[in-house]
Amino acid sequence: NRRIVLASRPEGEPKPENFRLETVPVPQPGEGEVLIRTRWLSLDPYMRGRMSAAKSYAKPVEVGAVMEGGTVGEVIASRNDRFRVGDIVLCHSGWQDYALSNGQGLRRLDPDEAPVQTALGVLGMPGMTAYTGLLNIGQPKEGETVVVAAATGPVGSAVGQIAKIKGARAVGIAGGPEKCRLLKETFGFDVAIDHRAPDFADRLAQACPNGIDVYFENVGGKVWDAVFPLLNDFARVPVCGIVAHYNDTQLPPGPDRTPQLMGAVLRKRLTLRGFIVWDFAAQAGEFAREMGAWVKAGRVRYLEDVVDGLENAPEAFIGLLKGRNTGKLLIRVS
Ligand code: NDP
Repeated sequence: NRRIVLASRPEGEPKPENFRLETVPVPQPGEGEVLIRTRWLSLDPYMRGRMSAAKSYAKPVEVGAVMEGGTVGEVIASRNDRFRVGDIVLCHSGWQDYALSNGQGLRRLDPDEAPVQTALGVLGMPGMTAYTGLLNIGQPKEGETVVVAAATGPVGSAVGQIAKIKGARAVGIAGGPEKCRLLKETFGFDVAIDHRAPDFADRLAQACPNGIDVYFENVGGKVWDAVFPLLNDFARVPVCGIVAHYNDTQLPPGPDRTPQLMGAVLRKRLTLRGFIVWDFAAQAGEFAREMGAWVKAGRVRYLEDVVDGLENAPEAFIGLLKGRNTGKLLIRVS
């Protein structure tokens, strides 16, 4: 059983030496337990937070413990009446080849319904993040302008496509010309803008002649700086993530712009609301039905970036925080 543990806490950008690959015996299921062989491991930006000891909405991974992560696996031994050998399940067994479970929190997946790994992407946590954050907080209306960055990723791409389904104009922001091409050709964004272009802020302003009604915040940094002056009165900002800052070790230099931000929140009557997908856990059924139907009908499309081999997870994860992935980043473990 190979597993990747947190070897040390990163300062700034994670490095390969913050991870360690270990080999331990494959565990045997006790009464009521199942043994799961990991097929797919999801790599997600939130894992950077788990590597850090800073206080957050979830507990950090302990140094020496297996890195946390959502997985899809196959039951290969069962002493639990609810699961049979051969069942494919969604679990949270982390960066390892095998794991035991008492069945709690496991969800059986139907391979005939959808490719099983989509339970980690468009039909799983990231898709539900886009769906619940956009519809509950963003509340896009017909004809409004919705802006999202990291827009080829599993969250951003779903945000843009759901915005279109609701009749809004979708402006996508991504890194580089190839990702911008995908935004328009694969995901149907009305406009695609490269945040690495030197005149990025001007291009964004040109793309939003009527201002911005919904900004789905995934990144922060210079994208937020360019969006902020364009927000309309009563604009809604679901604050989902600030991936541009996850490796920060200190606040940026410069004047304190808090009064400017609070002034705009007041004068423009902005709604900025942070959320964690599980705040909307009660909407999981509705999400599964509606998103499942959209994906089947081809109205919501998705991209996967598949990396083979558990041993390559650390490098792939380090790349995710820099935009080296294109689409939902998955490790094919077996
Ligand atoms: P992605 O697969 O989109 O990966 C992150 C992307 O962020 C990169 O590919 C890169 O895309 C972009 N990025 C990284 N650094 C910068 C930067 N400095 N400026 C602009 N863009 C940058 O990730 P997900 O779709 O899984 O997640 C998107 C966001 O949603 C993250 O912030 C994540 O933390 C958050 N999230 C929040 C949840 C919640 O419950 N609140 C749940 C799930 C995700 P590019 O090359 O286009 O720049």
